[in-house]
Amino acid sequence: MSVSDKQTEGGTAGETDYDAIIVGAGFSGLYQLHLLRDKLGLSVKVIEKADDVGGTWYWNRYPGARCDSESHIYCYSFNDEILDEWEWSERYPEQPEVLEYLRFATDQLNLRSDIEFETEVTSAAFDENSGTWQISTDDGETVTSQFFITAVGCLSEPYIPDFEGIEGFKDGSYHLDTVFEGEAYHTGKWPHDPVDFEGKDVAVIGTGATGIQAIPEIAKEGARTLTIFQRTPNYAVPARNRPLGDEDWEEIQANYRKILDSAHDSGFGMPFSVGRETAEDMTQEEVEEFLEPRWKEGGFRLLLSFEDLVVNSETNEKVSQFLRDKIRETVEDPELAEKLVPTDHYYATKRPPLHTDYYKTYNRDNVSLVDVDEDPIERITSEGLETGETSYEFDMIILATGFDAMTGTLLQMDIRGRDGLTLDEKWADGPLTYLGLSVHGFPNMFTITGPQSPSVLSNMPVAIEHHVEWVSNCIEYLVENDVKLLEPTKAAEDAWTAHNKEVADQTLYPTADSWYMNENIPDKPTVFTPYIGGVDVYHGIITEVAEKEYEGFELTESINDLGRHGDQPRLSVMEGD
Ligand code: FAD
Ligand code: NAP
Repeated sequence: MSVSDKQTEGGTAGETDYDAIIVGAGFSGLYQLHLLRDKLGLSVKVIEKADDVGGTWYWNRYPGARCDSESHIYCYSFNDEILDEWEWSERYPEQPEVLEYLRFATDQLNLRSDIEFETEVTSAAFDENSGTWQISTDDGETVTSQFFITAVGCLSEPYIPDFEGIEGFKDGSYHLDTVFEGEAYHTGKWPHDPVDFEGKDVAVIGTGATGIQAIPEIAKEGARTLTIFQRTPNYAVPARNRPLGDEDWEEIQANYRKILDSAHDSGFGMPFSVGRETAEDMTQEEVEEFLEPRWKEGGFRLLLSFEDLVVNSETNEKVSQFLRDKIRETVEDPELAEKLVPTDHYYATKRPPLHTDYYKTYNRDNVSLVDVDEDPIERITSEGLETGETSYEFDMIILATGFDAMTGTLLQMDIRGRDGLTLDEKWADGPLTYLGLSVHGFPNMFTITGPQSPSVLSNMPVAIEHHVEWVSNCIEYLVENDVKLLEPTKAAEDAWTAHNKEVADQTLYPTADSWYMNENIPDKPTVFTPYIGGVDVYHGIITEVAEKEYEGFELTESINDLGRHGDQPRLSVMEGD
């Protein structure tokens, strides 16, 4: 069946095939489908390139893949039945359990029939004459809709470094297309069939959150040798995973609504209190004493130790120092320990990974580290890989090299707005959005967890629910008021972009070469991509915009009014325009 074969019953689509097309069937797309279809009664289709739901949790099946958010808050909060019926087995669920959870939610909400699987959106163009979106897919079909909603994820386009001898993925396959004669994979598109490490010489390139989860598992799963190619070390904090028993669940269930409300009202989408205001006035010994219990508790609680952790270099340096010493205490070989100690960035200015036995893994006889900071990897060869100075032979090469994050998946889609302007052209110097949800020149397009929204700087289901609910309420308003088009003004977009930069510049984040800053991809503009003002603050801002009848947007009643952009807005005059 193709996208155009079946329209959802009901809805208001007359001139278009659907009221709304949603791209992506992860946490975001699934909830968006539910709200638009079941609350508003619109005709909606989700287009998903995988053959199942799950998004991140469908693709990232590498050994050790596990959630870093605590399970009881890494979930939908909108549905009491789902909350009551689902019980997580561990403090941090493994990838198969999160995938199973999303399948369960999909079935509870009866969503599958409106998802077109194994179909990739290859382009989306706004047609100014009809005021509709034309969305084309890789099976040669084109469908039209009034609203175009991207729920494509911030971390869903695997990044393959431009090493000589590597092309990308083999067509329709999970294997990388390389000159290498062994097996080659990327963690972000991991095979569904088990990968056998037994007796093999394995290379892992990359020590971000993914590499740090995968490395201990691969070392344990029978690899003869495991060689880790590290460019920059990271500050990883123990997760302290454990099974959740009946008692844990009783306690969670007794307070569940309160816990979730508190997550939704917090800066990072997590219901943990911040420890102290600052470490400025504390000695290093006092800081260590204060951090020790949080360290023992594990997880992101350490991130919330001091309110000024990411804005005050003095506080941060004390926490960073504590973490560096923990690495030195664990890794037996002092020379190796120093290679694993980060000194190039402040803690948390790159996404801070959690780990289980990562540093201990380096004490194993079958594990070694190659520092490629000074001597970069240049090429993949038929036998392995080469840095500028050394050749290595392997049976398997694993890229844990991350993602073309935040904008990569959106830009892959060839999205065109008014006057044929591509999103690529529009964002040549970095993302420009209003609220991280909409783009001037691209009417009726909504970007769930888009750049310049809190997204990756949060426990993401919280940020996702805020966005999805806002979009649903907005579309309800448009339908009720007979508004054809909604588009942010240029002034509102400029102001939001400037505000993003202003807030980011008050923090330490821009000092790190991180994927938050686009720095992991050569040639991408250096700019801080998520919104760092806080989930709670951000939610307040977007709620107020809606309450002020979509302040900052231009609303157009009739398609005949198209082309009059820049003239007076039709339904409400927006501030700053
Ligand atoms: P995704 O889950 O990325 O789903 C997007 C979907 O869009 C995918 O299924 C993709 O196939 C589809 N798609 C993209 N482009 C197209 C196209 N052109 N045509 C058709 N379909 C398309 N966040 C946390 O808060 N806590 C965590 O512990 C955490 N752990 C993570 C672990 C890993 C390994 C990774 C990579 C990310 C993690 N994240 C975590 C972030 C995670 O991405 C979000 O929590 C959440 O799953 C995002 O859901 P989503 O629906 O917005 O996007
Ligand atoms: P990442 O953080 O971008 O890490 C990629 C790694 O590859 C880095 O160590 C990077 O080194 C290295 N690398 C890239 N190009 C290289 C090259 N040419 N040569 C050598 N090394 C190279 O990617 P990730 O680890 O996949 O994580 C991405 C994000 O996904 C995380 O930050 C997090 O948000 C999410 N994630 C979450 C979880 C979880 O919560 N459980 C798990 C995994 C991922 P440099 O640091 O020097 O660039």
